[in-house]
Amino acid sequence: MSYCGILFGIQPNTNKTNMIEIKDLHKSYQMGSNSLHVLKGINFSVKAGELVAIMGSSGSGKSTLLNILGMLDVADSGEYKLDGVTIKDLNETKAAKYRNKFLGFVFQSFNLINYKTALENVALPLYYQRIPRKERQEKALKYLEMVGLKEWSHHLPSELSGGQNQRVAVARAMASEPKVILADELTGALDSTTSYEVMDLIQKINDQGNTILVVTHEDDIAHMCKRIVYLKDGVIIKDEKVKQVRASEYV
Ligand code: ADP
Ligand code: MG
Repeated sequence: MSYCGILFGIQPNTNKTNMIEIKDLHKSYQMGSNSLHVLKGINFSVKAGELVAIMGSSGSGKSTLLNILGMLDVADSGEYKLDGVTIKDLNETKAAKYRNKFLGFVFQSFNLINYKTALENVALPLYYQRIPRKERQEKALKYLEMVGLKEWSHHLPSELSGGQNQRVAVARAMASEPKVILADELTGALDSTTSYEVMDLIQKINDQGNTILVVTHEDDIAHMCKRIVYLKDGVIIKDEKVKQVRASEYV
């Protein structure tokens, strides 16, 4: 498969300080009188330009951690700095602003709006950033081209394959030019070949200098990243750099 157009226009962050820094993060869920301690003191940092897999079996706390990093949830205690900004101190409005500006999300279930075209889906977050209509359209088209779907821009999600929809979701995450892209089981609903096509795209975006975190329970997907952080029962049991397997070898 070829991606028409080059991966242009993305501003790589060449700042080699920590993009993400977390210290002794704890999170429990309260269920009636019971408390489930899900994150039990997580410490790690991610530098600009890294491609990190957060790996672990189901229930190990991966999504909980990613949701905290994505400012969709808050930790009970610990410290979280995103590009030097302490996240806990932000009020709701500011947090939403930071989330839109700093973070791009990709989910297993794509989370596209089914009555909107690919172009409209990619352009939507830009609307919330109050970017003028013409510029929204241009940007959305640019990022659809980047993921190889320019010709599909006026199609609805129901008219696209699973792999194409996930590429639309990646384009949407990229369109606001975030500091970090967070992906939760982004290949979880896709067959192997399609998964590798999506990982090929993720690798190419990372090659441009973008920082990406990929949550997965699949070993082959984790090894397409450059570093694997293993989570088990709410603690990091291993954190290692790996030789990256290029997805393009499989597509
Ligand atoms: P993973 O993504 O690794 O599968 P999660 O972070 O989703 O793990 O969940 C970790 C644990 O926390 C699981 O036992 C899960 O059932 C529980 N959990 C997750 N979200 C909630 C919630 N909102 N309320 C209560 N328990 C939750
Ligand atoms: Mg999960």
